[in-house]
Amino acid sequence: MKPIGVGVIGTGFMGKAHSIAYSASASVFGTGLRPKLEIVCDLSPDRASQRATDLGFSRHTDKWQDVVNDPKVELISVCTPNNTHSEIAISALKTGKHVWCEKPMSSSMEDSQKMAEASLNTNAKTIIGYNYTKNPIVLHAKEIIEKGTIGRVSGFFCRYDVDNEADGKKPWSWRMSKKLSGTGANGDILSHVISIAHYLTNSKISRVVGDVSIIHNKRIDPKNIGKTKEVDNDDMVSALIHFENGVHGHIGASRVSWGKKCGLTWEVHGTEGTICYNQERLNEIKLFTRQKDSSTDGFRTILSGPDHPFYSSFLPNGGHGLGFMDVKICELQGLLNSIENDEPTWPSFTDGLAIEKVMESVDISAINKKWISIKY
Ligand code: NAD
Repeated sequence: MKPIGVGVIGTGFMGKAHSIAYSASASVFGTGLRPKLEIVCDLSPDRASQRATDLGFSRHTDKWQDVVNDPKVELISVCTPNNTHSEIAISALKTGKHVWCEKPMSSSMEDSQKMAEASLNTNAKTIIGYNYTKNPIVLHAKEIIEKGTIGRVSGFFCRYDVDNEADGKKPWSWRMSKKLSGTGANGDILSHVISIAHYLTNSKISRVVGDVSIIHNKRIDPKNIGKTKEVDNDDMVSALIHFENGVHGHIGASRVSWGKKCGLTWEVHGTEGTICYNQERLNEIKLFTRQKDSSTDGFRTILSGPDHPFYSSFLPNGGHGLGFMDVKICELQGLLNSIENDEPTWPSFTDGLAIEKVMESVDISAINKKWISIKY
């Protein structure tokens, strides 16, 4: 196996997830490139030092430029808040480094466009962290759809609801600011929904009519006791959608839905059957295919197992199940394979920009209360 030097910028939830994936991928897959944890970056020297120890990096810094300019680093993870993605990713691409950037691409369409342009001026690989399209059982669902098992796709329906911000007493954070995060539930979780829509249907969303709302307009200011801060991006978002291939459907997301821990659910309806998925049961899909005898038909449950892509590298038998971090390892392995074999990634920055365009169109459509056609 050939080593590849990696650097991680930002060490919260996602920085940790990327670092775990880098540490585990060679052990799980045993082929291809072996990531070497070179340098990690966070905002203060103390935090960076602690995270280097926790996550197993050789060096640490509180300046992301040190990671970008490090000659031992070939692949960089951008795991910082959305408004920093563009500057870091573009600088990394200019030095020829591969970039694994967390979603959404950035906090504005202008920045995302610049990122996509920068990616076209280099041979380096880019990928956006839309991990729900990397789950082995979801890859299998796509194979089922492409084989025509459910006939011609007739409808796509997907929601992503969570209760992360359902408590109105929870303090304000960067995610609730248009300036720091861009849109709210739209960029944070509807973006995942759109990635799944494009992935499973092999087609892009071409028309939308959207709707957004803010449920908790003010939140406790965590830095000023007794004061509040304004929430200026969406808590809930919904849209009716049309795809380029003629399929219709609807999508939605909410960050204020009590009880929904990871309420990502999708359904693909076809002329001969239906497939359903629920991220809270991420090791199974439900498949219905029309039978001659309708008295015994019904949905059947397919559990993830060694017949599905990537799974057997983790476990020899079905039924044990994979978790979120395993899916992140699958995502990384796809990227490493693309780097090693000089093959395209999905979703690259170009594909990510298409997802951003849908998000922006849903937002604009909600403000103007009319259908919008999306130009790619
Ligand atoms: P977080 O708040 O847990 O972590 C962000 C980290 O970045 C913190 O450690 C912070 O100190 C550090 N940071 C901030 N600015 C920095 C800078 N300029 N230089 C270096 N470090 C800096 O956030 P998170 O949940 O890990 O989210 C990070 C990104 O990952 C966001 O873009 C988010 O949308 C995305 N995300 C993706 C998923 C997914 O399922 N793919 C899940 C959660 C978050």
